[in-house]
Amino acid sequence: MNKDETLKAVLSSDELPTLPTVASKIITLTAREDTTLSDIAALVSTDTALSAKVLKVSNSAFYSFAQQISSINQAVSILGINAVRSLVLSFSFLSMKGGKQKVQFDFEKFWKNSLAGAVASKLILERVKDADTEEIFICGLLQNLGELIIARTFPEEYEKVLSRVNDGQYDPLTAQEDTFGTTHPVIGYEVAKTWGFPEVLLLPILYHHDPLLYKGDNKKIAATCKASYLSDILISILYSDKPQEYHKRFRKEAKKLLGLKNTDLEYILNEVHTQVDQAGEYFGLRIKNTKSIQEILQEANIRLSLINLDFDQMNQELIQTKIELQNLTKELKEKNKILRNLANLDGLTEIYNHRYFQNSLDSEISRCIRNETEISLLLIDIDFFKKFNDNYGHQVGDFILKEFSRILKENIRKYDTLARYGGEEFTVILPDTSASDALAVAEKLRSVVDDFVFRDTKTNYHITASFGVATARPMTDDDFSKSNFINEADSALYDAKENGRNRVAIHTEKKKWYKF
Ligand code: GH3
Ligand code: MG
Ligand code: MG
Repeated sequence: MNKDETLKAVLSSDELPTLPTVASKIITLTAREDTTLSDIAALVSTDTALSAKVLKVSNSAFYSFAQQISSINQAVSILGINAVRSLVLSFSFLSMKGGKQKVQFDFEKFWKNSLAGAVASKLILERVKDADTEEIFICGLLQNLGELIIARTFPEEYEKVLSRVNDGQYDPLTAQEDTFGTTHPVIGYEVAKTWGFPEVLLLPILYHHDPLLYKGDNKKIAATCKASYLSDILISILYSDKPQEYHKRFRKEAKKLLGLKNTDLEYILNEVHTQVDQAGEYFGLRIKNTKSIQEILQEANIRLSLINLDFDQMNQELIQTKIELQNLTKELKEKNKILRNLANLDGLTEIYNHRYFQNSLDSEISRCIRNETEISLLLIDIDFFKKFNDNYGHQVGDFILKEFSRILKENIRKYDTLARYGGEEFTVILPDTSASDALAVAEKLRSVVDDFVFRDTKTNYHITASFGVATARPMTDDDFSKSNFINEADSALYDAKENGRNRVAIHTEKKKWYKF
């Protein structure tokens, strides 16, 4: 649709609102040069309901005149013709109902927003020195008239435009331009022109989205356009979901366009919500408890900081939890290791204990069965250790046991298992080791011990040990007895003892012992 088609459709539409008689007549009257105050007063007085409303507002805080205004004549002379016209038009528009209501357009919402816009424009312009504020209210009220007209004339297209705007694809004016070849300021302007509106009311409608496009030299019109434009931003602080953005923009633009000072801005920002509520009351629209801008901004800030805080905190907590978890896992691993070791190690010598030996022997036997290899076992007993303890004391005995363990450990392979079998008896599991190799290992250990000088702070000691060796080639779990195997080593050890100690004996069928 191009602009001309759109305007033609709009102006011939039966959805176009018609002005109430009084409103229409006041426009015609005020356009004439010879109209007097009494003509206006006489016209308004013909509508008693309207007169009552005008008087009520004239006496309200809306105008805050010191003196009581008791008649329309008085009102016209005190407020001025234009202000009364503004009031009459405002009442007329605000009491306009939905017409034939073909359209799902929220009239109430539209007029509430427009009223807020009117209040805001007036509030803004009143802060500008020497500004003429007589008609700012009606300009603010009608600035978005074009929206109402588009919505009523092209309901389906308007819905589409709205949804594209809501999707964030377009700004409203671009979307309107694309669909209708023109925008709501132009449409509002054209319609109001057919109603005979004067320029001072028309041009602010046309330029309220871009006040700098007004190039005329009428200061009142220029200021009114700017105030209308700013009122749109101010109202967005109240009703949009981005109050902070509009607040920032409002302050910046108000200073730039109208030279408003911070104190003016504070005043406007503090006042607007109460004045919107009051205007709702005067003009019979249900507007109540509009939140103050301060409250709105505070809430928005809290929401924003909560979102940030939540995110940061969540992040921080996740990181923290992960670190703690890692530390805990590490600690747990270490503790487990210590625990396992504590359970498996002998407290005095710090080599494996009897229990570990038994478990280890079980698994080594199973491995032998799997791999079909031999396994050998050494049982080692320190010779005459009772006597040693008796001679040197238990503490020296303990020292010998620790040192004895250490040198044995140093002289076996990594995969051999040395354990304290109990008291002064030790054992070594030698996986994958034949009888002759086991004998060699035993003899090596025996001679290391025999040659070793046990040295504490001041004394040298010498001990010997006897070794019993057993070798097996276990074939199945069922016919292999671990305890028999240990007994064989034990009986070999017994043989070694019996045959003079400090020697190695091996269990064989014939119970031979070997002396090296
Ligand atoms: P044999 O040559 O026949 O083995 O003589 P033995 O004295 O070594 O044998 P016996 O079994 O009679 O004595 C073992 C001694 O080992 C008894 C005990 O005092 C000593 N002993 C056992 N455990 C410890 C220990 O933890 N610390 C100390 N200091 N001595 C221990
Ligand atoms: Mg002994
Ligand atoms: Mg013993």
